[in-house]
Amino acid sequence: MKKIRIGIIGAGIQGVCSALFLQKKGYEVILFDREDPGKQAASYGNAGHFSPYASIPLNRPDILTDIPAMLLSSTGPLALRWNYVPKMIPWFLKFIKSCTTKNMMHTAKYMHQILDLALPAYDELFEEVDLTGLVENNGIMYIWNDQNLKSRELEIKIRDEIGADQQLLNKKEIHDLEPNIKKIYHGGVFYKQAKHAKNPGKIWLRLFEHFKKQGGTFLKFNINELNFDEDKPVIRSETQRFVFDKLVIACGAFSKKLTDKLHENIPLDTERGYHIHFKGCDHLISRPVVFQNRGFGMTPMEQGLRVVGTVEFGGLQNPPSKGRIKNLINNAKYLLDGLPEHEDEWLGFRPTLPDYLPVIGPSKNYKNVFYSFGHHHLGWTLGAISGKIISRMISNENTNLELSPYSSLRFK
Ligand SMILES: Cc1cc2nc3c(=O)[nH]c(=O)nc-3n(C[C@H](O)[C@H](O)[C@H](O)COP(=O)(O)OP(=O)(O)OC[C@H]3O[C@@H](n4cnc5c(N)ncnc54)[C@H](O)[C@@H]3O)c2cc1C
Repeated sequence: MKKIRIGIIGAGIQGVCSALFLQKKGYEVILFDREDPGKQAASYGNAGHFSPYASIPLNRPDILTDIPAMLLSSTGPLALRWNYVPKMIPWFLKFIKSCTTKNMMHTAKYMHQILDLALPAYDELFEEVDLTGLVENNGIMYIWNDQNLKSRELEIKIRDEIGADQQLLNKKEIHDLEPNIKKIYHGGVFYKQAKHAKNPGKIWLRLFEHFKKQGGTFLKFNINELNFDEDKPVIRSETQRFVFDKLVIACGAFSKKLTDKLHENIPLDTERGYHIHFKGCDHLISRPVVFQNRGFGMTPMEQGLRVVGTVEFGGLQNPPSKGRIKNLINNAKYLLDGLPEHEDEWLGFRPTLPDYLPVIGPSKNYKNVFYSFGHHHLGWTLGAISGKIISRMISNENTNLELSPYSSLRFK
């Protein structure tokens, strides 16, 4: 019998995980990307946190009052590229609407629903590939100073309400866990069950190679057009024509170009983020440490100490900002002594919807097209579970989950 043929556009962590779960169900899968997987994209340069606890979204009432101070501070996480602000106004207006307590709790509930399943879903993929030395189980620590304590209290309360596992830390406990961090902190929280990647790009590549080893096909195309043969999606290159039974769009922050062509106005935009490495400094901490007041984190990785952060609203075209790199250097030096010159400046694009829920599910207008994008700060953590959900949707199996909150229909 002819196998059902699935195309996936985008071979980031979302595309590759969907491909692997679809292969498990016996489908023939063809994965397309304009780049070679494992390099450059958000799935390469992220902070490497597998963070199942992180259900509290950025659409919160208290964030709105904090934004002006964040924008004025050179040490803060938030930045704007003014040439892009007019284009982003519709997104900002939708974001402001999402910042009510009710909408925040809706996002938190449905992020928790999938975050809670994120690590077990990865276990199903990780048991098939050799990731020796690439995933650490030392938990993740967040610290803060004595500013904005009301926001910290709110976060702790919500996590308690939705049942996320958290262990509050006093100054001594923080020092015991991470003795090299300067004592600028007032308190913190430890997520014991969280893990981190020692090299996200390498893990992504190993999963991709596993897909190919199992008979999956990869084609390096930049896809700008989608056509249909009756209701079957068609992708054309200069020399070939592929007809699929089903198609998945998983292009991260770039997905909107394709969904617009499917006549769906999904308000996807990007939060630009940066990383730098301090080579040979990964031994300074034993686990990822996030300093909440300045919205940045440090992760010990194979490449050295990766310092990651910034939410910069500036679209997909603007060049990287030197100011944001400087912000990361200064912030890292605020927490650690003796750091050398940094290396490897990287800019990446978080795919973000204004209500901070991803889009996972069928297209509004084309029943054989599915979406998996918009996972914002949590797309690395949510790769496997999103892929598993997509594979169940495509094979018409019950997930026992409430999936309507992730549908693109919420933007109609
Ligand atoms: C600074 C930073 C830190 C982060 N830290 C974390 C973290 O610690 N934990 C966490 O869970 N998440 C984190 N994230 C978020 C996470 O990295 C992303 O949400 C996730 O990687 C998105 O995966 P993706 O597969 O959707 O997109 P991507 O990784 O961007 O992949 C999309 C792929 O689609 C391809 N593509 C795009 N358009 C086309 C086209 N037209 N034709 C063909 N191919 C196309 C691209 O080349 C790319 O390979 C972070 C993100 C950033 C930027």
